[in-house]
Order: sequence, then structure tokens, then C-alpha cells
Amino acid sequence: MRLPFLELSGTCREQGQVHGEALKDLIEKNIQIYFERFEKEAKLIRSKVLERTESCLDSLQKQSLNYFEGIGGIAEGSNQGILEIAMLNFRYELLYHAIGKLQIDAVDGCTSYALLPEASVNAHTIIGQNWDWIPDVECAAVTTVSPEGPHHLAFTEAGIFGGKIGLNSEGLGITVNGMYSTGDDWTRFEKPFHLRCFEVLGSKTMEDALDVLIGTPRSCTANFMIGQAQNSIMDVESAPDKYVQISPQGEVLSHANHFTDPDSAEITEPPNPRRYLSKFRCERMEALLNELKPLDVEGIQEILKDHENYPQSICRHPDPDLPQEQHTITKTGVIMDLDERKLWLTNGNPCKNEFTEFSLLN
Ligand SMILES: [Zn+2]
Repeated sequence: MRLPFLELSGTCREQGQVHGEALKDLIEKNIQIYFERFEKEAKLIRSKVLERTESCLDSLQKQSLNYFEGIGGIAEGSNQGILEIAMLNFRYELLYHAIGKLQIDAVDGCTSYALLPEASVNAHTIIGQNWDWIPDVECAAVTTVSPEGPHHLAFTEAGIFGGKIGLNSEGLGITVNGMYSTGDDWTRFEKPFHLRCFEVLGSKTMEDALDVLIGTPRSCTANFMIGQAQNSIMDVESAPDKYVQISPQGEVLSHANHFTDPDSAEITEPPNPRRYLSKFRCERMEALLNELKPLDVEGIQEILKDHENYPQSICRHPDPDLPQEQHTITKTGVIMDLDERKLWLTNGNPCKNEFTEFSLLN
């Protein structure tokens, strides 16, 4: 099964309405999945989650009226309450943070990569990742013609406005990795993770995208890899008040779910007995990129299927040593050719699912 693909245009409200209507059933399922995760993993009941969501929504209205309108549109289109939709959109701050506080060994996530033109067969800038998350969460691909800024082509979860991982018509792209540090606190009410992804996809230059990520303090820690067609890639490790910019030492970059050098950045990560698994994926990715370059899309697809250190491999599968509610798998393998403005996505583990090519809507 391919990912659902939405073509969106008009105001943010109208885009949200079409998203909500088209993915109605998937959104209902995601709401149920996240409330279950909040209860099982973060020990937060539905009413508590919605109470926290409401506080965040008040701040969001001041931070971005466009994103606020987008959430309202999804709620209307899917016939769900605005708080339920807002919960999905704030789940990075609300859930990831709450789980991190309770289970220091539950840090899990994704493996990102980027190639400068010297490392790709067609001399294009290519970025992407395996995005690892809850096995049952429903996702979609969206292309958006925006009246105010660049057009987007992105991967998102059903019910999350804008896009999470994606590229735009300026040839600028973004990937994401979940991370923690000790200063994380959702009650800081800074611009949320998914709003920052949306604003990066609305950026015309690397400088604008960087300003979105680090120009204001954050509530919670995250890693972003950004790149732009014709020779520009950068990784940004962002903690609430500090950040680290990492440029490629050679022709490639890789990142997973830990700070590369937290000591020199004076950032404190909570002790995590499973940190070595993130380190393994990051190092394995870098080694494969360097060994196999120059790479084309097919070559990168093979790397995203890699099973070394299975099930905690680049292509992630459920780990039988963990309780079922902590299982994560690779939900999508992502390749973005920023010069071509093209995106390839799988719907599920890359070892078992075909890559589908998506192009920007003109
Ligand atoms: Zn696999």
C-alpha cells in the first residue's frame, strides 16, 4: 500500500479542511493511538493531555496564525475537536518529553543523512532519513501550493498540519531526529517542533531556515538536518537554550538520536543505557555513505534497507527485548533530491516496501 497523497492549495484553513476530510479515518485512528501511548507510556490520562494541549494552543495562536488556522481546518474537515487535532500537532513536546522523563532507556528515533554533490552520481544535493516511530501511526505525503511562500512536498502524520520531513520549490529540505536533554520542558511554550518544520518548509534560504530553528529558544530538544540544492547541507542539534551547528567534514553527513559532543556544547543528556544503539546507526550510516559513494537514488535505497545489528538496524524492526508499547519501526524511508525537487518515500520498512516517487505540484 502506498502512502495517501494529498494535493493542497488555498489558505491554511482550506488546506487543513481538505487534509482533515481526506484523512478522516486515519486521523481518528491516530488520535486513539496517541491517547493510548500517553496513558501507557507517559501515565497521562486523556483529560490531562487535553488540558496541557489547551495551554499550548493559546501560545500557538500568537506564534503562527497560519498554523493555528491549519489545525482548525483539519478539525473541521475530520469532524474532530480542535484540542484532539492540536494534541497530534503538539505531540512532540507533550509525549516525547513526558516519555523521556519516565523512561530514560526509551530514547529511540531515526537516522538522517545528507550528501553533497561530490558524493552523488548526478552531482545533486541529496538528503533524507529513515523515520522510525510507532508501528501503527498513519502517515501521508502532501504537496502544497502556497499563496505566500515556496510550494512544499512533504511527509507528515495524518492530522499534523504542513509537513514534517520534506522539501520546497526553493530546493530547501529538512529531516528530523528526536533527542532529549535535561532542560526539556513543554511548559516553556516556545514555538513547537512541528511549527518549526512548517516554517522551514516556508523558508527560501538556509539562513532563513536556520533562523526558524535557532532564532528563538525551544521547549524541547531536537535534531534537524537541512540542505539546499547546489551544495549546502548542515546539521543542527538544538537544545532549549543552546545549539550546535555541524557542517560536513567530508562529502556526507549523518545523525541519529544523540548529541555528537554534548560536553563541548555544555549540553547535558540524561543517562541512557541505549545510547550506543543510536551511535551505532549514525556510524553505520556514515560508513556506508563513504564506502558506496558516489550514490544514486537506488544506491541510497539499499542503504536504507540495511539490517546490520538487526532489529536495531538502520531499517528498524520491533525489538523483542522491549515491551510492545515501546516498539518502533522504520515507518518511512526518505530520499530527497533537492536539485530535482523530488521525494521518494516508502510506506513502512524500506526492506519490505517499494519507494514511491513524488513531485512538487506546479
Ligand atoms: Zn528491514
